[in-house]
Amino acid sequence: MMTLDDILRSKGTDVYKTTPGTTLHEVVDQLVARNCGSLVVCDPDQPSRMIGIITERDILRACRAGRKPLDRVTTQDAMTTEVVTAALDDSVEKIMGMMTEKRIRHMPVVDNAGQLAGMISIGDVVKAQHDLLTIENHYLKNYIQG
Ligand code: AMP
Repeated sequence: MMTLDDILRSKGTDVYKTTPGTTLHEVVDQLVARNCGSLVVCDPDQPSRMIGIITERDILRACRAGRKPLDRVTTQDAMTTEVVTAALDDSVEKIMGMMTEKRIRHMPVVDNAGQLAGMISIGDVVKAQHDLLTIENHYLKNYIQG
């Protein structure tokens, strides 16, 4: 069974973060610079404390809702505060199911002490499943062909 820990060991444990007071303009700059789709929002006084998540989808919604320029909307006003997290020993299958069911494409991973241990995106999950299927397919073909 492949776990999130296995994925993080190869992709790395970096989690890109922001704070609630930043503007969506700054968030867009970071998403583009980091080539990612979400940032974890942390308490500025306690940088290890996660208080929300902001993704591309939230920026799209904010554009539609207020029609205000992105430098006049703060992260706090657009983020999701009820963050769904995963554990290091969760299976890739389980997380794939949760992402599908909850319609989310990002899952912060926390360790046993409740500290951020990485970020898994739907792209990471698809890659892991694809790699696994490719290997399985290779062995099955070898087995059939002798
Ligand atoms: P996404 O598909 O990841 O771009 O996110 C779709 C919506 O779900 C956005 O409003 C996000 O803020 C929210 N969201 C994404 N990931 C999570 C998560 N792990 N926990 C809670 N909300 C999330």
